[in-house]
Amino acid sequence: MPEINTIRMRETEIKWSVVGHEKQKEFLKNALLSDRVSQFYLLVGPDNVGKTSLAIDFSKAIKCYREAVKPVVPCQKCEICRSFRASADHFLLDSVEEIKIDDIRLLKKRFAFAANRDGHKTAVIGNAQNLNREAANAFLKLLEEPAGATTFLFALPSLGWLPQTIVSRGQKVIFTLNTEKDFQNFIKQQNIAATKTQQALALRRIGLLKRILEDEDQYLSYSRIRDLDRLSETPGLEFLNQIMSLHDVDSQQLRILFTYWLLLENEKTPDTLLKNSLKKSQAIAQGLEMLTFNANKKLVLDSIAVSI
Ligand SMILES: [Zn+2]
Repeated sequence: MPEINTIRMRETEIKWSVVGHEKQKEFLKNALLSDRVSQFYLLVGPDNVGKTSLAIDFSKAIKCYREAVKPVVPCQKCEICRSFRASADHFLLDSVEEIKIDDIRLLKKRFAFAANRDGHKTAVIGNAQNLNREAANAFLKLLEEPAGATTFLFALPSLGWLPQTIVSRGQKVIFTLNTEKDFQNFIKQQNIAATKTQQALALRRIGLLKRILEDEDQYLSYSRIRDLDRLSETPGLEFLNQIMSLHDVDSQQLRILFTYWLLLENEKTPDTLLKNSLKKSQAIAQGLEMLTFNANKKLVLDSIAVSI
């Protein structure tokens, strides 16, 4: 009924679990309220700013929208909201591991069997940069032959990691770092006791600050990488020793830390960048790629130590 739709369009709000990113939220909300939700979204931007959480919120909102008892979605009260995580209509993959063809096959199988009165299926893939070539091809097929109304949401740091054939099909939603204002407001509102060092380590990323505060090991790991970053400007024996000391970090964590190392580099303003910066970024990016495709850890660390 058009009248009801008009009211809904005026009044419905999406309850986001993520701070900031108002433009991006508005964009997604408008798509939902005007009934123009795309088949495929690429949420692109820095790690740990809330892209995947926002994608999950949006998926839930899509599903709840037609059921919600209040004009706030997700309402957390309807059947869809209550059984969302276990629902066959929703698929979530968020790991730092390589994404293989079997993962995409599983997604395809799940969606082929899923049948709900609404029928709209949603899949969120965090760290979508880890799709290997086979998985990317399988995903392209899935995009071409969707089983009913489906929305795929990929979260990833840069579009350069995916084949152009996939990138060209997605609606891009570009994210930036949390603003200093949002970052500081979050600390105030949540009454968080974060030291200056912890705040500096988080690099204006609310998600990263939470991680550092919740887990002492994570805090130490990130501190180690920041020390390494400093040392790498004048590589010497100490730098090499520190690189080799990363042998005790497991590959998964090492990938996270390398990503962080690259972010540190991005944070620098042109006048603080030294000449070897490009070389350094390339060496870390290469190490990251090697790790993603399961290279031997020692080989990866040796290659970085030699390249910087
Ligand atoms: Zn609901």
